[in-house]
Amino acid sequence: MALKKKKNEKKLPIRKVAILTSGGDAPGMNSAIRAIVKAAMWKGLEPYLVYEGYKGLTEGNIKPASNVNVDRFINQGGTFIYSARYPEFKDEKVRLKAKKQLDKMGIEALIVIGGDGSYHGAQLLHTIGVRTIGLPGTIDNDISSSDYTIGFFSALETIVQNVDRIRDTSRSHHRCMIVEVMGRFAGDLATHSGIATGAELIITSEKKYSIKEIIDIVDQQMNKNKKESMIIVVAEHLYDNLDKIAKEIEQKTNVVTRSIVLSQVQRGGAPTGFERYVATQMGTYAIELLCENKSGLAIGFVRNQLVAEPILEALTKPRPKYLEITEKYSKINQE
Ligand code: ADP
Repeated sequence: MALKKKKNEKKLPIRKVAILTSGGDAPGMNSAIRAIVKAAMWKGLEPYLVYEGYKGLTEGNIKPASNVNVDRFINQGGTFIYSARYPEFKDEKVRLKAKKQLDKMGIEALIVIGGDGSYHGAQLLHTIGVRTIGLPGTIDNDISSSDYTIGFFSALETIVQNVDRIRDTSRSHHRCMIVEVMGRFAGDLATHSGIATGAELIITSEKKYSIKEIIDIVDQQMNKNKKESMIIVVAEHLYDNLDKIAKEIEQKTNVVTRSIVLSQVQRGGAPTGFERYVATQMGTYAIELLCENKSGLAIGFVRNQLVAEPILEALTKPRPKYLEITEKYSKINQE
């Protein structure tokens, strides 16, 4: 992909732009990177890839994207430029070092794909003069400035497929299964997957059920209502030991109960069609904003429209509440 010089084009505020992925990886990050590289070339910018997030940025692990065939990554899970957790980036001296790496290469702008932690990093870079744009990349969907984050739909699909399988076997043996899903401290994956799979109980941090309450519901469902099976979807970080809880339920109700933590499986796999649609448009929009001389903005997808607002505002928006629908669908699914 040689960079074409575009004639008669109005002068752009930047010439070089870099991209990094940071925090937890998410399906669709690759689709976004591809879109950014392609859109940059289309606008006449030189795109660069930063390998390993803020760590790679600080260490200068930055390479031109022009030699990489990005098209092949549109449908691949993970992030081909790698991600990293790099707490050192909270230190201003480290961030200044990272800025120096960009300055050395003449790169004026940086697009950060990541979750809220990565957004903090991007905002701080913006304050020291790096033009930054944030794309919401996290399976957790915990960035309120966007209805959906890149990765959420694909992770949801993976959870649904797995819970469907768990349901098949539970039904055959009249079992109760507790399924723990990711989401960090947000209940979006639990709520959406619980509703999509007809889970008889959906538990998120908005209402942590006591073990006694769970036991009563299992007893009602399986022993009194004679349900064939029962699925409890639980958001992560709520209970320390789900195996122990499953054993206690089994002892008190005589219903064979197991727990399963879906764990990293939820992160992998190809991005869904809608994920690619959103990621591609967000990536392209990031380049368009930079070409309009914008910086310090977070991109979102709200009511089917691309939006951009200051990263600081994106970080402080309140999260949607799900308790009403988790309670409603738990009740409906218990019928
Ligand atoms: P996510 O971006 O998915 O929320 P993390 O919270 O782990 O994931 O953040 C990813 C990276 O962003 C961290 O490893 C760190 O390099 C950087 N980061 C997180 N919080 C801050 C902060 N307050 N200031 C500067 N950089 C941060």
